[in-house]
Amino acid sequence: ARSIPRGCRYRTYTTAMGDAHGRQRELEAGLERAVERDEFELWYQPQVDLRTGRAVGLEALLRWRHPERGIVGPGEFIPCAEANGLIVPVGDHVLSRATEQIRQWRGTPLGRIPMAVNLSGVQFHQADFIDHLQAHISGGRGQLKLEITESVLMTDLGGAARRLGELREMGVPLSVDDFGTGYSSLAYLRRFPVDELKLDRSFVSELGHSEEADAIVEAVVALGHTLGIRVLAEGVETESQARRLARLGCDAGQGFLWARPMPASDLEAWFAEERVRIP
Ligand code: C2E
Ligand code: MG
Ligand code: MG
Ligand code: MG
Repeated sequence: ARSIPRGCRYRTYTTAMGDAHGRQRELEAGLERAVERDEFELWYQPQVDLRTGRAVGLEALLRWRHPERGIVGPGEFIPCAEANGLIVPVGDHVLSRATEQIRQWRGTPLGRIPMAVNLSGVQFHQADFIDHLQAHISGGRGQLKLEITESVLMTDLGGAARRLGELREMGVPLSVDDFGTGYSSLAYLRRFPVDELKLDRSFVSELGHSEEADAIVEAVVALGHTLGIRVLAEGVETESQARRLARLGCDAGQGFLWARPMPASDLEAWFAEERVRIP
């Protein structure tokens, strides 16, 4: 029998422990079908400037509209897709959808702000990744930016530096996702042409609960700004966190305080209100 890729062993699929194996196969088979049947959707979460309170960016987040289980989040299927290689076609599909949406929003208020797309390490290091990306953004890169986690950058420093150089040449901005969790070598950050650090939400949730939390945020902001890199805080849920982050010099924030990820049509409605959201 074919072995199950490690990433496909899933908590949520082991409700009956004895049946875990069957559920893993089900997830894998389901993912293959999802690609064929186009069951994936992109939802969008706004990113907010902490000084002006205005939306200054969007992050595209993948959702699987499962025929029986409803909306399934990426945490439940991305590791499996990475383990069995499906992440490559899925990731390519995401880029295609995102760039299509960017083109659709062109000329509307949403077309004025950049949209970040998450990349898997597998995808990022694919030999033909740049060719694929070129194909999607032919006719102008529009507002596309990319996110890659700190741990992916750190696993192959040389390869990552070359790839980032290629992206820089193409004019596609890059954010380091989950910053602070990946044991980064700060020395290498200097050599990486990145545009933004996304401070991991674990640090944001510590604000007000531990004395070190403020110091860590301040240190990341100082590091980023010294290197000319913008700092965005992830997982901002309360007004007091937003105020504190602003006071500590963070440039932008993203989190449930402002909005949850939502389908394109909901985002259009949210955005049309054009509220000024100063924390
Ligand atoms: P991420 O890129 O770090 O995305 C942020 C995650 O935090 C999202 O979870 C978002 O819904 C959640 N979040 C946002 N604000 C808050 C908040 O205030 N509080 C809390 N508790 N959570 C918040 P989501 O959408 O479930 O995505 C999880 C991860 O899946 C992402 O983490 C990213 O690593 C990955 N992912 C999502 N879409 C894609 C994709 O298209 N391709 C790849 N390769 N990975 C993706
Ligand atoms: Mg991200
Ligand atoms: Mg993140
Ligand atoms: Mg994260």
